[in-house]
Amino acid sequence: MSSSNFNNNHVNNEQQQQQSTDRRIRLLSLHLNPPINNNNQIKLEVCSARAKIDVNADKLTSYLRGKHRDVQEKVFAYFNSRPDLQTPIEILKDDYRELCMRQLVGLVREAGIKPFRYVVEDPAKYFAIIEAVGSVDMSLGIKLGVQYSLWGGSVLNLGTKKHRDKYFEGIDNLEYLGCFAMTELHHGSNVQGIQTIATFDPLTDEFIINTPNDGAIKWWIGNAAVHGKFATVFAKLMLPTYDKNALTDMGVHAFIVPIRDLKTHKTLPGVEINDCGHKVGLNGVDNGALRFRNVRIPRDNLLNRFGDVSRDGSYTSPLPTINKRFAATLGELVGGRVGLAYSSVGVLKIAATIAIRYSLLRQQFGPPKQPEISILDYQSQQHKLMPMLASTYAFHFATVHLIEKYSQMKKTHDEQLVADVHALSAGLKSYVTSYTAKSLSICREACGGHGYAAVNRFGSLRNDHDIFQTFEGDNTVLLQQVAGDLLKQYQEKFCGGTLSATWSYLRESMNTYLSQPNPVTARWESEDHLRDPKFQLDAFRYRTSRLLQSAAVRLRKHSKTLGSFGAWNRCLNHLLTLAESHIETVILENFIEAIKSCPDANSRAALKLVCDLYALNLIWSDIGTYRNVDYVAPNKAKAIHKLADYLSFQVKNIAKELVDAFDLPDHVTRAPIGKQSPSEAYTEYTQYVGF
Ligand SMILES: Cc1cc2nc3c(=O)[nH]c(=O)nc-3n(C[C@H](O)[C@H](O)[C@H](O)COP(=O)(O)OP(=O)(O)OC[C@H]3O[C@@H](n4cnc5c(N)ncnc54)[C@H](O)[C@@H]3O)c2cc1C
Repeated sequence: MSSSNFNNNHVNNEQQQQQSTDRRIRLLSLHLNPPINNNNQIKLEVCSARAKIDVNADKLTSYLRGKHRDVQEKVFAYFNSRPDLQTPIEILKDDYRELCMRQLVGLVREAGIKPFRYVVEDPAKYFAIIEAVGSVDMSLGIKLGVQYSLWGGSVLNLGTKKHRDKYFEGIDNLEYLGCFAMTELHHGSNVQGIQTIATFDPLTDEFIINTPNDGAIKWWIGNAAVHGKFATVFAKLMLPTYDKNALTDMGVHAFIVPIRDLKTHKTLPGVEINDCGHKVGLNGVDNGALRFRNVRIPRDNLLNRFGDVSRDGSYTSPLPTINKRFAATLGELVGGRVGLAYSSVGVLKIAATIAIRYSLLRQQFGPPKQPEISILDYQSQQHKLMPMLASTYAFHFATVHLIEKYSQMKKTHDEQLVADVHALSAGLKSYVTSYTAKSLSICREACGGHGYAAVNRFGSLRNDHDIFQTFEGDNTVLLQQVAGDLLKQYQEKFCGGTLSATWSYLRESMNTYLSQPNPVTARWESEDHLRDPKFQLDAFRYRTSRLLQSAAVRLRKHSKTLGSFGAWNRCLNHLLTLAESHIETVILENFIEAIKSCPDANSRAALKLVCDLYALNLIWSDIGTYRNVDYVAPNKAKAIHKLADYLSFQVKNIAKELVDAFDLPDHVTRAPIGKQSPSEAYTEYTQYVGF
């Protein structure tokens, strides 16, 4: 090293040290002499990158918001006008339950938002209300869901006119607060295994409800611990058989059982209720356990749409077998699952909004002698958050599609549609809620220590949302239903039957995709090709088709030695991967369709960018599978990786507009670090701790 170089370096080092010392003094003086009024806020640099696509968040919002945004705004406005009804950060369980009840009563009786009629008449509006209410407080969303989807929904969907006439008004105006009592201590996912018994007594024309052992205690029942007056109780219907003096098990049926006195609210004779206690989250909901000892209810309390008992004890049903009746009963309850999938996307929107806004605002480190940069400028932060933002958009369109299908199903009762919605809701509910649960931790971590402050929401969002993966059907169990459905479709394909709408791509894909990959296209690596929706869809469908075919082959092979149950278990992980792959395909298809229908050119371009990131990131995440069968050559795999990173960077450039388009007011996101106006974020946060 020459002496002039040494001198120059030395001078540079000194200058850098001086600048760094100045910066530290400036920062320290800020701590020592904190700004005393709002005009003296910490000056913030704007994130360096400029938007590449000129996205108009308002136009994008108007495409996303759907026709029921007005009722969501009404919900938001009501709670904004009632600070006394907002859930504080620290609250005891019992106070929270009472607050949650007051929130529900306020919403229905004061704000006049009565969701019950929409459960059947306009499900899309109902789900819009559920999503908005869940954004205000997830406990409230669940309490509302227990009242209207579960308790109310069971009366409407499993009962007949006499039940609707008797209970509609009381459920609607909250006089008849109710529960949905399916799960027992020993049986959750396996509903057919429940042991509660409803025996018909022809002498008194009543059913006698009994909990035969502790394993049959109804457990986790929402609204039971404190507020519920009624419960829809799922029990095995036992009918006397006169000639043998024995009872015949007719399978699981639903019964309306009053549990508390309508006037005094005292627990009714024969009913024992205990509190399930403090939970990891959702502590605004009063989950309880119920035991029944010879509780007598009138014969009319059997919800008799799929099976009825006459005065003389004979049984009639429009459906021929116990299994068909059971499937029809559970099939009617699918609405709760649709609502959860949709609400989970709502939670993901809130978390992504907070994490991305904060990542644009927060600055750490930077090139020498230059201002610090926004943490979203780091590739690693983009990698954490941009595919997540893309997935949020993808899930939005997929769940909107699910709701459309569900609404259609409710109108037409078309058998094919019923099967289709059942599998689609199972798949989307499990895929989306698992994804959101993981993302909530990623968002917390992406916001560093400030993400850990309860006021910034990630803790409560994570704790409250976590159980979405389990209730309304455990995700692992639901995914198996999707895999089972796919295998049924596969079998029908080879036996010449018809394929239902959602799975129709399999019809085309089987022949096309099960042939050997094309060695020429396997090497194509141009950006145009990789961003072509045909390439992306082909890749997704190819993977699903391969997984489906190989699962079918393996199941056939193993069932010879292990039987069908054992073979299924031997292939279980394979089957879960198949179900997820299929759901990802359905999500991508819907995203591509949604882009085509978007009227504004710039919004369309933004959505296309986001969709490309969604697709290529997933292909890259599973690149081993594609490489193993030479579906992509090494050069193409490398190009996909490079492009996925580049698209993350591109999406980052419009990330602000993309989260603004979710149109979540600050009083809904409620996290100081996630405020719409970055200049207010630190101010509100410092004020929150008392500065
Ligand atoms: C906060 C809360 C509120 C609830 N509210 C209600 C309510 O209002 N009414 C009501 O009736 N119920 C309610 N539930 C119960 C809920 O629906 C059940 O918890 C759910 O159905 C799962 O049942 P389980 O907890 O018994 O889990 P299990 O079925 O015992 O599952 C435990 C584990 O075993 C795995 N597993 C089970 N079966 C299989 C299989 N075949 N293959 C592979 N893995 C399997 C699951 O993936 C899971 O990881 C609530 C639960 C909670 C926690």
